[in-house]
Amino acid sequence: MSEAIKLFIEDARAVSIEEAAKIIGLKFKRTGFEHPQPCPNCRGTDTFSFNTSKEKWNCRTGGIGGNDAIGMAAHCEDLDIKSREGFLEACSIVLARDIPTEGERESDEDRAARKKRLEERRLQNDADAAARADSQADFREKERTKARGIYQATMLLRADRLAASMVVEYLHRRGCDAPPGVWLRASAEQPYWHGQDERGSPAVLYTGVAMVAPFVGPDLLPIGCHITWIDLKQPPKFRPLLTDPATGEVLPTKKMRGSKKGGLIPIVGDPEAQRWVGGEGIENGAAFAAWEGYREDTFYFAAGDLGNLSGPADPSSRFAHPTLKKPDAKGVARPVMVAGPIPKRDQDADDAMWVADHVRELVLLSDGDSERVMTAAAMARARARHARPGRIIPVVWPRAGYDFSRMAVETGE
Ligand SMILES: [Zn+2]
Repeated sequence: MSEAIKLFIEDARAVSIEEAAKIIGLKFKRTGFEHPQPCPNCRGTDTFSFNTSKEKWNCRTGGIGGNDAIGMAAHCEDLDIKSREGFLEACSIVLARDIPTEGERESDEDRAARKKRLEERRLQNDADAAARADSQADFREKERTKARGIYQATMLLRADRLAASMVVEYLHRRGCDAPPGVWLRASAEQPYWHGQDERGSPAVLYTGVAMVAPFVGPDLLPIGCHITWIDLKQPPKFRPLLTDPATGEVLPTKKMRGSKKGGLIPIVGDPEAQRWVGGEGIENGAAFAAWEGYREDTFYFAAGDLGNLSGPADPSSRFAHPTLKKPDAKGVARPVMVAGPIPKRDQDADDAMWVADHVRELVLLSDGDSERVMTAAAMARARARHARPGRIIPVVWPRAGYDFSRMAVETGE
């Protein structure tokens, strides 16, 4: 590899996620660091996101992500980063300049100067990467502490507390009787932070009753929390309508704080149980649990999202969607690529939710109202990932177009 190419690569490594996102033409939200949107490569709704504070990007549809601009550019432009051409092309995109041609003659002087710059660039990149890792670890720890604080300030779902009875009523209207136990809690005045005030400090957009659940690791200590704001006057989902004051964009009424990675949300029961039942969302798991009558021998949980349920996919198992197509750069309709059923090799333990070793039956609940092929591939991946000798993993599907919560509501009332 020529010195010119080496320097070119080191220059590309120094490009931040923010700079690269601007060059690629990704969308930025007006406020905040997290910028969700459809994936330029795989499409989907808000399944792709980059974070300019954490220096991270992620595509849930493609089952891929990372913390470098080169990788993000490669995914957005569908380049094979493992090939030399693909990698250099991605570098060229984030630098917005051409790949240097090999074999160009250079003077000894130029060569010495270039080597010196290369070495300086490399040292600076390594130092920057170390500093970023430190500040990310700091940020994560602060977020975890905040999440624990939110959960500690909640109340149990007892009928004599107004906010608690509103959460119970919310669950009832979503097809689940109030789950017995201690995991799901209520908060009477949960602030919803969004955007910034005139002085640039984080601003509270809304305050109201919320259902709060913890994300716990294998030691059952909270690493994060899941917040669902509730408004019983807003059917069918009974959540407040929140909009961005600047753009009018509708905001999500569920949020996660702290870490969810590798954790799970306990809904009902004891994780010591040998039978576990759960899917993506709390309402779905709780509706299924209610329908089963909260079996004594079962622990009910939610993974929070599909990625945390199934873990990342092996890139070799990516496949073309049988019917969905999207136009490529030249306007030619091409099949949408779907993250495959095979788990990525050499995953970290926290790449997906934990399942206790003693679990003999793991019932996975699918969402019938999400895209069918993508969901089926993810459920197959979850099944492969959590497979152990002596463990059975049935996958349960609701009626097409439904989730278990909506099925319960329509059959129950
Ligand atoms: Zn993608």
